[in-house]
This record gives sequence, structure tokens and C-alpha cells, in this order.
Amino acid sequence: MKLPDLLTFVRTKMRMEHVYQPLLIKLLLEAGGSATVTQLARGFAAADESSVRFYEQRIRSMPLRVLRGRKVVLVENGVVRLNTTSLTYGQKTSLMAACEERIADFVTQRGDDVWVALGQADPVPSSMRFKVLKRDRICQLCGSGPKDSPLEVDHIVPRSKGGSNEISNLQVLCRPCNQGKSNSDDTKF
Ligand SMILES: [Zn+2]
Repeated sequence: MKLPDLLTFVRTKMRMEHVYQPLLIKLLLEAGGSATVTQLARGFAAADESSVRFYEQRIRSMPLRVLRGRKVVLVENGVVRLNTTSLTYGQKTSLMAACEERIADFVTQRGDDVWVALGQADPVPSSMRFKVLKRDRICQLCGSGPKDSPLEVDHIVPRSKGGSNEISNLQVLCRPCNQGKSNSDDTKF
């Protein structure tokens, strides 16, 4: 297709039920014109706000908390940085290799379960979150309301332990209670 035809397609002919089509074309352009389906899927995952928010929460509650405590990273104004002097290319390469080695060892030990657990932990759809908030209204552990602290939707049985995204497995917790619960759930990490 020639550029004017492509532009016409994108601007007026593309029938959209979701953002997928323009996103795919944009990702192909960013990748220099071609990409594997896996590369495209990474781009889709990065553009998916709900999974981005899921990983934000997971990063804050797990690795960031530990790595800050160990003074490995610093967080200033929402920016995370390695707590070290600037590294040469060779130093970066060896540190990256060490990280990759630990990841590979861990995956070898645990098998594909590592990724299954992450994949299963898909976020609760916003329509379902709304239903749960409407049903519970206050923290189901301490009774805090939205004026006391931010309310979150929690899996009663965690996703990592096979809990579902069904409304019967969801409850409202305030952030401090949810944090306390996820700390005790996640001790294995
Ligand atoms: Zn609470």
C-alpha cells in the first residue's frame, strides 16, 4: 500500500472495536517496519494501562520495598535509581549478566510456574472493581471508609494460589490492611 492509502485507511477506513489495530501499526512503525508477534505482544502489554498499573503495584509492594531497605536503590520524586556511582559499560554488562544469571537459575529451579503465577495475576477488570466497591463500601478488615484511607480491591484467595477474579473471591480492603495482607502472603518472595 502507498502512504496516502495507508493514511486514509488509518484515518477513515479502519473500523475500531478496540485500540488494537492502530496500536499494532504504530508498534510496527516504531520497530522499523517489522516485528515478531512476541515483540508486538510486549508492546501491547506495555500499552495496556491495567497491566501497567498491576506491575506498578507489584513493583512497589515487592522488589522496591526490599531493594530500598537494602539500600540497593533510591527513590526520589517517583524516580527509582541504582544507589551506585556511575558505571562503565563493562561494569554494567557484568551486573546485567549477574542479574540474568539469577533470573535464569530461579526459572530453572521453579520451572515455568514463575511465569504462570505472573500471567494468572491479571488485574481485576474495572467494571468488577466497581461492583466490589459498591457492594463492600468499607475495608472488610478494619472498617475504614474512603475518607480514612484509599480503598483497594483484594483477592481473598491470592491469584498466585489459584484464587479467581470472581466477585465471590474479591473484597474491599484499605491500603494499610491490603499491604499488611500482601506482606504476609508474599513471604515466599
Ligand atoms: Zn483496613
